[in-house]
Amino acid sequence: PMSEVSKRVAAADAAFRPIADFYFRSRYADRRFAEGISDFTFGNPHEMPLDGIVDALRDRAMPHDKNWFAYKTSEDEPRAFLAERMSAELGLAFEPEDIALTPGAFAALSVAMRLVLDAGDEAIFSEPAWFCYEPMLEAANAVSKKVMLTPGTFDLDLDAIDAAITPKTRMVIVNTPHNPTGRIYDRETLAALADLLDRASARINRRIFLISDEPYRRLRFDDRDFVSPAAVYPWTFIVYSYGKVLLAPGQRLGYLAASPLMPRADRDTLREAFFPAQMALGWVFPNALMQYAIPDLEGLTIDTAALARRRDTLMATLKASGYDVVTPEGTFYLFSRWPAGGINDPWNALADRDVFVMPGSILNAPDHFRISLTASDAMVERSLPAFREVAQSG
Ligand code: PLP
Repeated sequence: PMSEVSKRVAAADAAFRPIADFYFRSRYADRRFAEGISDFTFGNPHEMPLDGIVDALRDRAMPHDKNWFAYKTSEDEPRAFLAERMSAELGLAFEPEDIALTPGAFAALSVAMRLVLDAGDEAIFSEPAWFCYEPMLEAANAVSKKVMLTPGTFDLDLDAIDAAITPKTRMVIVNTPHNPTGRIYDRETLAALADLLDRASARINRRIFLISDEPYRRLRFDDRDFVSPAAVYPWTFIVYSYGKVLLAPGQRLGYLAASPLMPRADRDTLREAFFPAQMALGWVFPNALMQYAIPDLEGLTIDTAALARRRDTLMATLKASGYDVVTPEGTFYLFSRWPAGGINDPWNALADRDVFVMPGSILNAPDHFRISLTASDAMVERSLPAFREVAQSG
C-alpha cells in the first residue's frame, strides 16, 4: 500500500516496533499503572525523586535576569565546569569545546551519528543491546551491522567485530556499563578493541569512530573501576545522560564529548561541527534549568547501595530457583536466562502474577529477560514467590 510516511521513518518504525508494541499495546501497557504490580520493565523511577534534584531545580526556577528562559545553546559556563569535572573523573584533559550539551543521551547519539555517518555507512554494535541504536541508525540512513556478545559472559566478541568490518564501516558503538547485561568492559578489552579498530581503519583506509555510550558509568557495584573507551581509543565520542545517575530520565540533559586524545586537527574539525549538527537535527537547545543546575547535579547519584541490595535479593531467589543470572557490575539492570524446564511461556506466567519484566525477545535474546532494579523494595519482595513458581514446570 502507498504510504505517506518517509522510507526512513518507516524503517525506524519497523526496527522499533517490538518495543513500541510492548510499551503501548501489551498486557504490560494495560497494567503499568495498576496498584500492587511489580514493575521491572523500563528504567523508570518507582519512588519519589532525589531531594537534591528538586532543590537544585527549585533554586534555579526563579529567573535571575530577563534572559533566564531565553534560547540556551550548549552554554559556556556549564561546559567549562564539566570539562574540569570530566577531566578529573576520566583522567583526560577535556577542553570546554570538546563538550556539547544535549537533551539527553538520545540526542547526543543522534548528533554523533549524523556527524560522521553518510548514507549507506555501516555501524557495528553488539547484541543484546539497547533497543534504539537500530531505529536511530535507520533514521540516519545508515546500516546496522549486529554481532553477538560472547554467550554466557557477554564479553565483547572482538573477532566478531573484526569480521563485521567492511570498507563501508564508519562507526562502532560500545555501551559500558552495559544495558541489559550490567557488564563493564575492562581496560584490557578496550585496549584490544582500540588496537583492532586502528588496524581496521588502516586496512579500509578510512577512520572508524567509536561511540562510547556510557550513561550508566557512575552506577557501579562492588567498587568496580570504570575506564572510558575515550581514554583508550582517540577517535571516540562519549555519549552521556543525567537521566540514569539521577533516575530522572524525563529531565532531559546529557552531552556528547570528543576524546581529548583525538589528534588536534580532527578534534578541532569535529567539535566545530557539533553546533551545525545539533542545529540541523533540532537538538540544539538543551534545557536551560537543567544547565544552570549542573554544578549541583554533578554531585548527586541515586542510592547504589539500595540497587545492590535489590540485586542481591533477587539474585539469591533466582539462582536458588534455577535461573541463570549474570552478576551485574554496573547499571541498574539484572539480566537472566529463564530457568530450564520451568513453566511454558514464563513471561505470561509472571504477568499472571502481576510481575512484569522486559522480555528478552525484544532484545534479540529470547531465552532471557531483564529486570530493572529501579523497582521499589516492596515490588521486589512481592515478586519473589512468583519467580519461584514460574521456575517449576507447569
Ligand atoms: N543509551 C543507553 C544504553 C540507554 O539505556 C539509554 C536509556 O535507556 C539511553 C542511551 C538514552 O538515555 P536518555 O533517555 O537519558 O537520553
